[in-house]
Amino acid sequence: MSKPGLQTLEEQCAQKGMRMTDQRRVIAQVIEQAVDHPDVEELYRRASAIDARISLSTVYRTLNLFEEAGLVTKHDFKDGRARFELIPDEHHDHLIDIRSGKVIEFRNEEIEAIQEVIAKRLGYRLVDHRLELYAVPLKSDEPHK
Ligand SMILES: [Zn+2]
Repeated sequence: MSKPGLQTLEEQCAQKGMRMTDQRRVIAQVIEQAVDHPDVEELYRRASAIDARISLSTVYRTLNLFEEAGLVTKHDFKDGRARFELIPDEHHDHLIDIRSGKVIEFRNEEIEAIQEVIAKRLGYRLVDHRLELYAVPLKSDEPHK
């Protein structure tokens, strides 16, 4: 989501010298407003509801452009659909509810710290990481073990 005082995705695209058509502008807005890590099909649904001329292939191409420009990041949450979100201002990790497909963002300083320690022990300086937790809700029809 865009935050006040920060540049919009459209502004960042313009800054990178990207030609912004009306359709790209709509797609940029749809990504910016999303809080749910949508896939291409879902972004297409939302964008084409605003501008019916937008095709699925335009959404694909535009997402690739945004990704190549380092403005949008792609996730693979193992359900066969690539999900997209803006590069966040602050790093976060994801928990994926494998029953509902719901994606929950979290950040844990102990995990952040231990990953740096592990990399260091292996002789590296950590520059990035991705952590995905795949989980089912505790309150479910299955008895707890
Ligand atoms: Zn996220």
